Amino acid sequence: MLMQPEITPNAYTPPQRRLLGPGPSDISTRVLQALAKPTIGYLDPSFVGMMEELKSLLRYAFQTRNALTFPVSGPGSAGMEMCFVNLVNHGDKVIVCRNGVFGGRMVENVERCGGVPVIIDDTWGTPVDPQKVRDAFRLHPDAKVLAFVHAETSTGALSDADTLCRIAREHGALTIVDAVTSLGGVPVLVDQWQADATYSGSQKCLSCTPGLSPITFSERAVEVVKARNQKSQSWFLDLNLLLGYWGETTRTYHHTAPTNSLYALHESLLVLQQEGLENAWSRHRSNHQALKAGLAEMGIEFVVTEDARLPQLNSIHIPGGVDDKQVRATLLQQHGIEIGAGLGALAGKIWRIGLMGYSSRVENVIACLTAMETVLGSHGVRAEKGAAVAAAYRAYAEQSVGR
Ligand SMILES: *Cc1c(COP(=O)(O)O)cnc(C)c1O
Repeated sequence: MLMQPEITPNAYTPPQRRLLGPGPSDISTRVLQALAKPTIGYLDPSFVGMMEELKSLLRYAFQTRNALTFPVSGPGSAGMEMCFVNLVNHGDKVIVCRNGVFGGRMVENVERCGGVPVIIDDTWGTPVDPQKVRDAFRLHPDAKVLAFVHAETSTGALSDADTLCRIAREHGALTIVDAVTSLGGVPVLVDQWQADATYSGSQKCLSCTPGLSPITFSERAVEVVKARNQKSQSWFLDLNLLLGYWGETTRTYHHTAPTNSLYALHESLLVLQQEGLENAWSRHRSNHQALKAGLAEMGIEFVVTEDARLPQLNSIHIPGGVDDKQVRATLLQQHGIEIGAGLGALAGKIWRIGLMGYSSRVENVIACLTAMETVLGSHGVRAEKGAAVAAAYRAYAEQSVGR
């Protein structure tokens, strides 16, 4: 007798949810259907043609002409790691800006590559302070790389990537930019910034399935990678080996590309291109404004000041006396709404309401405010019934007048 599973397995049907957390975001039927198309070989000429289109769509999303622009077969964390293992050699000094969880992961990456991190800390919930970066370069003129997170998903703060990249360039350093949460939600202008290595994730404002990391490298970065005299510590993420598959000329086996996920990414990027980047950015702003107006009716305050606030990631203070876990559980179980908890030092103190990509829709804003009013009402937060939704509709109306 063969061993049998100790449970009685059933086909899995996930519940319907509104994904209003820090990712994954809601996925449109259009993108989900792309996943179900027939799998073909990753060297099939038809697949190669689709990938050329995908790369071109990625260049549009990143606003770059960088030849080396492609999706890493792995989540955003793999894109992050690919930047570090290729651009950081043993002993290299790397200035890392840390104003949240993901900046902390960058420090980890530098250390594991044998680099020497120079850490610049900023208060969680505030953007990276460019003056501190200038000071760090003055103290460490030999720093090879500046690494920072454009949109800190753990806090909801947006940093000034243009200025930070300029400072690095003035000191002859390369830049590693985390654009996981920013791409598709707020402007990411790789060529204008002259950023050297920029990575993102499929499941945030691109609203594709998790597990892919769009990435783009400048010519300058590619030269540095080609000139390495030490092998990168990672075989899988070694750009020098991957160039054989993603390079312009030959295509040879490196690893089996996740074909169906790549169809889905292609579709989600096509959705973005058809909407247009500027329209996508203004849709994110518009839904954020409406959510903000509704939350204000419940006396809820934002963690980040208005000038650095991400429209796609609304981090808010949990009202006093309210049980964090219980509220999130009720929102999920009774209203089908997932919102994000606080991470690290902000755990238990904040919520993170994501309005990313396909999740950034009027019906989600209204559903979220309606549910929060009910649930928070039962936790003693006093608010006039229906006032939050009414305020959201007023905010939408004001915006359409403004246009
Ligand atoms: C989500 C996220 C990541 C990691 O992406 P995964 O796909 O979860 O590996 C990295 N950086 C930022 C800013 C993120 O929001």
